[in-house]
Amino acid sequence: MTTAFYSHPDCRGHDMGRGHPECPDRLDAIEDHLRAIGLADMLEQREAPLATAGALALAHSEGHVGELSAVLQRVAAEGRHRALDADTTATPGTWAAVARAAGAAVAATDAVIDGEVENAFCATRPPGHHATRDQAMGFCFFNNVCVAARHALEVRGLSRVAIVDFDVHHGNGTEDIVAGDERMLMVSIFQHPLYPGTGAAPLGDNMVNVPVPPYSRGPAVRALVEQNWMARLDAFRPEMIFISAGFDAHRDDELAQLGLVEADYTWMTERIKAVADKHASGRIVSCLEGGYNLGALARSVAAHLRVLSGT
Ligand SMILES: [Zn+2]
Repeated sequence: MTTAFYSHPDCRGHDMGRGHPECPDRLDAIEDHLRAIGLADMLEQREAPLATAGALALAHSEGHVGELSAVLQRVAAEGRHRALDADTTATPGTWAAVARAAGAAVAATDAVIDGEVENAFCATRPPGHHATRDQAMGFCFFNNVCVAARHALEVRGLSRVAIVDFDVHHGNGTEDIVAGDERMLMVSIFQHPLYPGTGAAPLGDNMVNVPVPPYSRGPAVRALVEQNWMARLDAFRPEMIFISAGFDAHRDDELAQLGLVEADYTWMTERIKAVADKHASGRIVSCLEGGYNLGALARSVAAHLRVLSGT
C-alpha cells in the first residue's frame, strides 16, 4: 500500500506579495527536499482536481460559498488584488489555488476510502483551518480539511471521523464548523496566547483543545498530547482521520514561539497512525496548513511523510 501525494501547479499561483510568509516557495521547498532525499519516488504523485461548489458547501454556508467564489472569480478576471483581512489577500491566482486545495482533500478522501492508497498528503495551499463557516481569514479561504471530513460523512457514508490539528495556531475555523457535530471529534494543540486568540474555552463537547504556553518544547508537548488526545481518540473509534498538518510549531519558525523539531513530528505522526491502524484501517488524509521557515517546513513534512509511507 502506498501514500498518495496530491499537489497542483495552480497552488503556486496564489501569491499575496513580497514578504508574505504564506508564499508559493513553501511548496517548492517541500518538493525539492522530497526529491533530494529520494522520498518523492516512494510516493504516488497525483494531480489535485478542482473542488465543486457542492463540496465546499459541505463545510460552508451556500451563501458564503457563492459570495466568496464570486469575489475570487472577479479578482481573477480583473487581474487585481483585494484584501479580505489584514493578512489574507485575494489575488488573480487565488481562485484556482483554493479550488485545487479543497479538491485535493476531497480526491484524497475518495482514494483512501476506495482503497487505492493507504493514506494521502495534500501539499497544497492556501491552508484552511482558520476559514470559518462564513468567513475567510488568517491566510485561509475555504476549510480544506472540513470539506473533506464532511465529504467522508455525507457523501461516502462514514459514521465517525476525527480531525487532528497540530498547527501552532488554533484552528478556529475548524472548531466553528465542527463544534456540536457529534460525528466528528477534533483534537488539537496550539500555542496560547497567539493568533487568532481562540481555543482556550472549547465550543463543544467534541473538542479537545490543548493550549500550550509559549516556549514549550517537544517533551512537554508530547506529554500533553499523550494525556489529552489519546484516550479520547481511542474511545471515539474514528473510521478515518484527517490531519491539519501545520509545521509552524517548529523551533525555527518565526511566526510563533514553540520548540518542536522534526523528531517531534515523527512521534506525533506515529501516535496518530497508531489510532488509524487500530480503528480506521489506516485511513489518513493529511493536509498542509502552516509552516513558514522553508527548511524546517521541508524537513518536517519529510518526517511526517516517512511515517505515513512507512519508509
Ligand atoms: Zn499556523
